[in-house]
Amino acid sequence: MTALVAILLSAAAMTVIVGVRYLLTSGAFALATRATRPGLYVGLDKQIGREIRWSLASAAIYGVPAGIVAWGWRQHGWTRIYEDVGAYPLWYLPVSVFLYLFAHDTWFYWTHRWMHRPKPFRMAHAVHHASRPPTAWAAMAFHPIEALTGAVVIPLLVFAIPIHVAALGLVLGVMTLMGVTNHMGWEVFPRFMVEGPLGRWLITASHHQRHHERYGCNYGLYFRFWDRLCGTDDGLGNFDAAARRARAAGALGRGLAGRDAQG
Ligand SMILES: [Zn+2]
Ligand SMILES: [Zn+2]
Repeated sequence: MTALVAILLSAAAMTVIVGVRYLLTSGAFALATRATRPGLYVGLDKQIGREIRWSLASAAIYGVPAGIVAWGWRQHGWTRIYEDVGAYPLWYLPVSVFLYLFAHDTWFYWTHRWMHRPKPFRMAHAVHHASRPPTAWAAMAFHPIEALTGAVVIPLLVFAIPIHVAALGLVLGVMTLMGVTNHMGWEVFPRFMVEGPLGRWLITASHHQRHHERYGCNYGLYFRFWDRLCGTDDGLGNFDAAARRARAAGALGRGLAGRDAQG
């Protein structure tokens, strides 16, 4: 098998893995939403279809750099991913996870802020904000330009920061979980955590919901560090108020559509 075929197969396999991981995770949380908050996604079928299509396209964009790097790691020992847990001190395991999350968060904050400038917003980021309100399926609903900015982060970090393969799995798990839960329209974490000292520094759905509501604030991904430092943190959103507004807007929309149909 030539190297090119092996790379293509690796990229295809990674695309399938990312796509299936998205469908399973978003699907599970969409089901949980239907079970615990029936009606929250009512009238959003068209939007959900769009969210799934953009997300699956993003899976391919995430799969290619991941596939190339995975191939190089297995075939040529590229990257600083290690498998022998004794290669670094044990305390380094949680530190490496934190370093990856912080580096990803930093990259996300600044590229996200840039994408809220008028031109990149129109060109790319508007796709993500077209979900109003987003659902569990919006986790990877990005324009290809935005997907590319997200897809290169971990494949580049593995060349810079040593990480155990299981710790890397944990980072990817956190990334997937937060991508879905931050968009699903309700808070999955307990109130004492979200509104307590931990929630002052960690981002959960209540924080990201406000970004989707007000746009020019709360740009972070995992931590409120950059938002707080740069004065862009606008506190936590309120799902009850947001749901009421969405219902009212939906009712208004349906009312107008009914009048149009009659007129
Ligand atoms: Zn945004
Ligand atoms: Zn979002």
